[in-house]
Amino acid sequence: VGKERIKQDWLKIKLNTNENYRGLKKMIREKKLHTVCEEARCPNLHECWAIRKTATFMILGDICTRSCRFCAVKTGMPTELDLEEPMRVAESVKQMGLHHVVVTSVARDDLQDGGASIFAETIRAIRRLNPLTTVEVLPSDLGGVYENLKILMDARPDILNHNIETIRRLSDRVRAKAKYERSLEFLRRAKELQPDIPTKSSIMVGLGETKEEILEAMDDLRANHVDILTIGQYLAPTKEHLKVEKYYHPDEFAELKEIALSKGFSHCESGPLVRSSYHADEQVAQAKKA
Ligand code: SF4
Ligand code: SF4
Repeated sequence: VGKERIKQDWLKIKLNTNENYRGLKKMIREKKLHTVCEEARCPNLHECWAIRKTATFMILGDICTRSCRFCAVKTGMPTELDLEEPMRVAESVKQMGLHHVVVTSVARDDLQDGGASIFAETIRAIRRLNPLTTVEVLPSDLGGVYENLKILMDARPDILNHNIETIRRLSDRVRAKAKYERSLEFLRRAKELQPDIPTKSSIMVGLGETKEEILEAMDDLRANHVDILTIGQYLAPTKEHLKVEKYYHPDEFAELKEIALSKGFSHCESGPLVRSSYHADEQVAQAKKA
């Protein structure tokens, strides 16, 4: 219908062109690092980097062994493991003056530990250089191997985030290799390993799910002791990706948030531009108070 390009008003954002990010972007390029903020052209970049002092780094390279149908990351043979990457991430966090950092990665099914030890080392390196910065990790399911998850949880991130991405019925269509049940188990086991570390997950809406199915996903997450939920509008990165079936109105996002809180999530961000790492600083502050 019409031009896919015509977006709802609430998805339009004002780009702050006065801010000069060139220096930081150059530093990140020179250190051969990748941020989701830049690569996904996240609409929240100004708010996150300049005001909230938060950013999302993507470690373990920018080539993924999987090819989810909503994701713009390249698929292929990943790059060699870079053992110096954790330290360079820690240095960038310091240079950017971040209060909260999210560390995510491509899925590295080619590595025996799924990249868990590099995640753990990244958490430790950030802590060494930035003792006041809170660290959230957003790994893949690390091959669904419990020992890999343990390596990661032993480094004690401030938040363990793992996204189910969508509701049960659409999971196989939307995600490559990852399984709905396996992700729920991953979240439950993370909580069992370190009960005091808050767990978090995210759902994109607009992929053809019903409201009942969203509520069922919330129940599934709560049944596996997930504390924090984010809900955002799916936007297709290109025409080759899954198409948007529905644009949710901000009132619908607000209603979903109310429902999530009534189901016992300690924190829920729900809105058209909400991304997994959006307002993550608030979530960690709240979790620490709880
Ligand atoms: Fe980066 Fe996440 Fe903020 Fe977007 S919402 S700019 S990806 S930290
Ligand atoms: Fe993208 Fe993650 Fe899927 Fe890889 S596993 S294609 S990075 S969503």
